[in-house]
Amino acid sequence: MSILKLPPRLANQIAAGEVVERPASVLKELMENSIDGGARNIWVDIEAGGVKRILVRDDGAGIEASDIPLALERHATSKIKTVDDLETVASLGFRGEALASIASVSRLTLTSAVMGKDAWMAETEGVDMAVEVNAASHPTGTSVEVRELFFNTPARRKFLKTEKTEITRIDEVVKRIGLSHPQIGIKLSQAGRIRLNMMPAQTSVEVEKRVADVCGPAFMEQALPIDRQSDELRLHGWVGLPTFSRSQADLQYFFVNGRPVRDKLVAHAVRRAYQDVLFHGRHPAFVLFLELDPAQVDVNVHPTKHEVRFRESREVHSFIFGSLHHLIAQTSAGKVAAPALMQELRTPQPESEQQQNNLPLSYTRRETESVTPFSDAVRESSQTLFRPVSEMQGMEALESGSSEQVQVPPLGFALAQLKGIYILAENAEGLILVDMHAAHERVVYEKMKQAWQGQGLAAQPLLVPESLAVSEREADTAEQYIDIFSQLGIYL
Ligand code: ADP
Ligand code: MG
Repeated sequence: MSILKLPPRLANQIAAGEVVERPASVLKELMENSIDGGARNIWVDIEAGGVKRILVRDDGAGIEASDIPLALERHATSKIKTVDDLETVASLGFRGEALASIASVSRLTLTSAVMGKDAWMAETEGVDMAVEVNAASHPTGTSVEVRELFFNTPARRKFLKTEKTEITRIDEVVKRIGLSHPQIGIKLSQAGRIRLNMMPAQTSVEVEKRVADVCGPAFMEQALPIDRQSDELRLHGWVGLPTFSRSQADLQYFFVNGRPVRDKLVAHAVRRAYQDVLFHGRHPAFVLFLELDPAQVDVNVHPTKHEVRFRESREVHSFIFGSLHHLIAQTSAGKVAAPALMQELRTPQPESEQQQNNLPLSYTRRETESVTPFSDAVRESSQTLFRPVSEMQGMEALESGSSEQVQVPPLGFALAQLKGIYILAENAEGLILVDMHAAHERVVYEKMKQAWQGQGLAAQPLLVPESLAVSEREADTAEQYIDIFSQLGIYL
């Protein structure tokens, strides 16, 4: 086969393979353009998981009529001029290929107006780039509408997931951008129905509210603010307490100069900082912003700009690790200040005992160490495990190893209570130290397991339902498994 130069459309479609993976990646590029364009508000509307339609409108600076065809062309950008600019790029975009790529695999309409001038519009249909510009009506700012994504590349369409999954990814993109640019108002709707509405945040309380909106109020309640600075680096944001660890790494947001990144070096530094305080398989939650001189970080290592390369990677690693480690070490000393917003939101009455009992065991124990050690329930289940030492008539039999005459409870005979929380017991094997709360939990758990295998769990409705704050994803999961929950006696 002889060598042919690829026609522009094909070249763009190939480039689109890197940048435009799915509706969420289209949305990311369009929203980043709006941010670079100086938007104070961004409105997003999607249909059918974004496959049928994605509309992004902003109130930014807009594009001059004469620039509109160029904006749709590959390797055309207003953000850099020379290779030196690439070294210090502060905008989110700079490759000049997003619009061209998206246009090559969809039907795209770009409408824009700059301050004090008429609006103009260009329409493309995945065709080669001969773009016609017509008069339109639009306030200052830009709208990009992308319809029928991958209509001309069916192979790519096959890789799309269900509408629900695509929407989940779209939500993720919007939330990520919402976190990194709290000063911008963002509204996401689906066929006109509002899904997310984030008001522009100015004050620190408003910013904290935005973080709580995105990460859930529980995160903000159990997160510590961090703000550390060295000569060249600044790390700020919120880190979840070790007690707020998660089974998935789904609440981890890291931004480098406002750009969301998934970086191995960063991930490693964070993991190490939490190493001593998290169980294996648990993941910390955090929202962190790293700021440094743009010249110190290469953002041009990945087409979707998800990865970065630090010039002084060792320093960055040790700064992140050091900052987080320091903070986390402080938390175990127990003196932690709640963020301003949570102090405002917190209900004035002290937590009820009921609520305290719901806390993970390790946490409750520390809190109640010097207070009432065992509840009646704990005491009751201990009776199946121990006998008081006064009933230890058969100890000789025990010692001789023939336990026929005496019924020896599994953990033997209780000798003493230590520190108000442990029981020292003795059986044929020797001395046993038992954490009573843990033992009680185990007894209850075993009983429930037996009931589950037998005639099912007996449930008792709560007089007042418990309310839990969960993320949308968690709510979806709860809904999905609602039958299992009700078999477990939990009615949602
Ligand atoms: P890049 O963002 O890498 O420059 P794009 O293909 O995403 O490349 O956009 C091309 C150009 O179109 C941008 O450099 C910018 O000048 C212009 N542009 C695109 N979207 C907007 C917008 N929402 N507001 C203002 N200008 C925009
Ligand atoms: Mg761009």
